[in-house]
Amino acid sequence: MRNPGLIERYREFMPVSDKTCIVSLCEGSTPMVPAYKLSAAIHPRLEIWLKYEGLNPTGSFKDRGMTMAITKAVEDGFKAVMCASTGNTSASAAAYAARAGIRCAVLIPEGKIAMGKLSQAMIHGAKVVQIRGNFDDALKLVRDVCERHPIALVNSVNPYRIEGQKSGAFEILDDFEGEAPDFQSMPVGNAGNITAYWKGYKEYLAAGRSRSLPIMLGFQAAGSAPIVLGHAIDNPQTFATAIRIGNPASWKQAEAARDESGGVIGMVTDHQIKEAYKLLAATEGIFCEPASAASVAGLQKLSDNGYFNDKTPRVGSKLRVVCILTGHGLKDPDNAIKAAEAPMTVDAEEGAILDAIGLCETVAV
Ligand SMILES: *Cc1c(COP(=O)(O)O)cnc(C)c1O
Repeated sequence: MRNPGLIERYREFMPVSDKTCIVSLCEGSTPMVPAYKLSAAIHPRLEIWLKYEGLNPTGSFKDRGMTMAITKAVEDGFKAVMCASTGNTSASAAAYAARAGIRCAVLIPEGKIAMGKLSQAMIHGAKVVQIRGNFDDALKLVRDVCERHPIALVNSVNPYRIEGQKSGAFEILDDFEGEAPDFQSMPVGNAGNITAYWKGYKEYLAAGRSRSLPIMLGFQAAGSAPIVLGHAIDNPQTFATAIRIGNPASWKQAEAARDESGGVIGMVTDHQIKEAYKLLAATEGIFCEPASAASVAGLQKLSDNGYFNDKTPRVGSKLRVVCILTGHGLKDPDNAIKAAEAPMTVDAEEGAILDAIGLCETVAV
């Protein structure tokens, strides 16, 4: 099979036995797309690659953690799972729970979740509960409920989520034949993913499957940047709803990834995220969701500040950077429509159409 799913692909690094019944939707093995124009636009010394996690089965990297978390929940005898979510975790949990034939309940912040994500949780048959509160409130409630009832918590505080998600690092190392990129750039919300990638990079190195580690670059939205500011944010704000988190569960681990790798956790404004989001779509043909574009916005900001000027590539002539594009653009059609030019309406005749698309009739003949 071309892609048996990531637990099968990286079985020796995953907490499974021969008896484990794996719940998979053939996630992982996502494309690594070279971004020539984007590289040139951001810094002449960069060689940017886009790891397109939007091509996972439910459209985000959350599937990497969820295949592992649901597999273990079933193995441990749970009949129900629960999570708090800014959207993608609930979409993924609902799909994998449906596949496993167990129940799923999700808690989401009212009105602050992208339509595509909500539709997924609903169609897969999860019990979707909106709370009058934010993600951080939802996570606290879910933790309390799961502590008192026989329900498995499948947020990224569940260590199996991190185990599955670390496979992203393995794939990057395999794609580059064991040589880590000079930098990895990614959005940071609850900080599970940066924790997982760093764990993956270190494990592969320790196992002799790779030769180097990347410098980790993580980016929060300026209105939701607790790690950058050094304190929790009570009322986090950003249009990039997947990273609208004021008190990340894996805060310490994210700082460890930054410090051990000699990296940076920075913040980018919604305006900078929106520009990167549009640039990716318009110049590379890659449609990601707003939060994902923080990885590219952050590179732009570092480049503008001269960060790359004094850096030396480990191998080759360019500084190799992998940006993790965490989710698919179709998750959040409302923001895409708001960010782009509105369609025109004209009469159903050729002249009007040529006029509308900016061709005069003489050119068309
Ligand atoms: C969950 C998510 C993030 C944030 O990942 P964390 O592990 O919470 O830091 C970023 N982008 C997308 C699309 C997500 O779904």
